[in-house]
Amino acid sequence: MNTSLLIKNGILVTENETYPADILIEDERIDAIGQNLTAPAEAEIIDASGCYVLPGVIDPHVHIQLDTGVFRTADDWETGTATAALGGVTTVIDFATQFPHQTASEGIAARHREVLGLETTDLDQLASSPPQTPHPPYIDYALHLMLTVLPDEDEELDAWMQDVRAAGVSAIKIYTTYRPNYYQNDAELLRSMRAAARADRVVMVHAENDAIVSEATQRLVAQSKTDLSYHGKARPGFAEIEAAHRVIFLADHARAELYIVHNSMGGTVELIEKARQRGQRVWSETCPQYLLMNETRYEGDDAWRYIMQPPLRDPYQPAHLWQMLASGAVQSLGTDHCDYTQAQKLGLRPLRDASIQSALSTLSPLARDVIIARFGLFDGRPRTQMETSHYLNLPLEQIQQAENSAFAQIPGLAEQMMALITDLQRLDSSVSPSQLPFTQTPGGLPGLQTALPLMITYGVMPGHIDWPDLVRLMSANPARIFRLDHRKGALRPGLDADIVIYDPQGTDVITDSEQATIGGFTPYKGMEVIGRVRDTIVRGQPIVRDGELIGPRGWGRYAPSRV
Ligand SMILES: [Zn+2]
Repeated sequence: MNTSLLIKNGILVTENETYPADILIEDERIDAIGQNLTAPAEAEIIDASGCYVLPGVIDPHVHIQLDTGVFRTADDWETGTATAALGGVTTVIDFATQFPHQTASEGIAARHREVLGLETTDLDQLASSPPQTPHPPYIDYALHLMLTVLPDEDEELDAWMQDVRAAGVSAIKIYTTYRPNYYQNDAELLRSMRAAARADRVVMVHAENDAIVSEATQRLVAQSKTDLSYHGKARPGFAEIEAAHRVIFLADHARAELYIVHNSMGGTVELIEKARQRGQRVWSETCPQYLLMNETRYEGDDAWRYIMQPPLRDPYQPAHLWQMLASGAVQSLGTDHCDYTQAQKLGLRPLRDASIQSALSTLSPLARDVIIARFGLFDGRPRTQMETSHYLNLPLEQIQQAENSAFAQIPGLAEQMMALITDLQRLDSSVSPSQLPFTQTPGGLPGLQTALPLMITYGVMPGHIDWPDLVRLMSANPARIFRLDHRKGALRPGLDADIVIYDPQGTDVITDSEQATIGGFTPYKGMEVIGRVRDTIVRGQPIVRDGELIGPRGWGRYAPSRV
């Protein structure tokens, strides 16, 4: 493969400065940075005139192919990382869940199996073996461990933490809410934090006071106030601030490093900043959704687009968060990307329909899989035959044959499926589509593809932050906090050549149809952005060029953290 690449004439952005320079890439690493570099004769030259050249975005908070046990997103690692690469993201830090019947190691091994299809946790093998899944990643990934049920004995928990460390996982994630799946009470939080501290692991916390949120939710349900407009009321902002206050106190007591995810309240960031000034090791993460939108979004028919936890806040919060961001009190930016389909958000589950179930039960397993994927019975997203072929990793002919035989075998099935597609398509233009109560709508938004253009347009351009701040928030700090900085997060010779070239010319309006997600919608629909991600380079390999995904599938590898 091509081993030399020279990026010429761009404006480099580091976390300290911006300056014109060229970057020479040899193999997968940055070889040299300087003015008027000359390339080896065989080098490919990329002209970045008029463009900013930044370290690739490291998104520290991502849920690709998520299975919560209740909901499952319909994406896979190929589409999840395609939408990331198109947004200038070169590394995602996702989560391995330790499900209740598993040890930490088993949870991590299972996640590697899902991403790469490899039956190993050996770091050398993960780095060198080609992926074996039909839908492998385009870009690199790292992992946090989502800890659910703790073992009884601290000795065993300590052994888990050593395994986590050896697996190249720098952080554990715990929750103060979501009974009964993820919730940890205060004693469990303290145990987790102490064990993490003993193994020098970072503790990430989703902070919302569970009792306050549960009581508010129950009160709304008792009053039959369950349409989506009440979502924000069920999770008041002070519940986040209270939980942040408590976990900062507990982490200080446990001497654990703390990272509080998705701060949606300016007050949460203020608490973190005060603790930092006292010398505590604690970091603040916010997300574009909390900077750019507020709770008035829950008023319209599009409310389903914005169901997330924590919810969008009162209209004063975004300004407060921008102010905190500008002051340097926020250290990290994540998206909390989560790719549910519109049908899932609205509660449409065609596969639950009794007549569809009985029809499917008479088909062969292959024909059943084809019909389910083709007509979106699982996720409400119909696919063309070609997309179905890709989704199931089967030849197009086999898809056509299976579909034809199913239609021949069951009279009326074709009409039933076409009617369903019409129904699903009507959602797009429907004035008030059917909606679940907010208590049952899966929470989460896609964000990987839009985060960088939005932060440039609404953060850098109006002067809330400058270009180096952007790099610090979206690359350098996530790499440092999660111990990937020996390889990633900066433009420096010797580091991985993870680079995004951003063309600031022109404006564009964000649309649903441009999203490379499975869900195919974006909460930022209709917002204007300045410029675009032109090229995304991952370890020296162009993955996106001139805004088009061109990279080889399966280029992504596991990026373990420093021990
Ligand atoms: Zn999350």
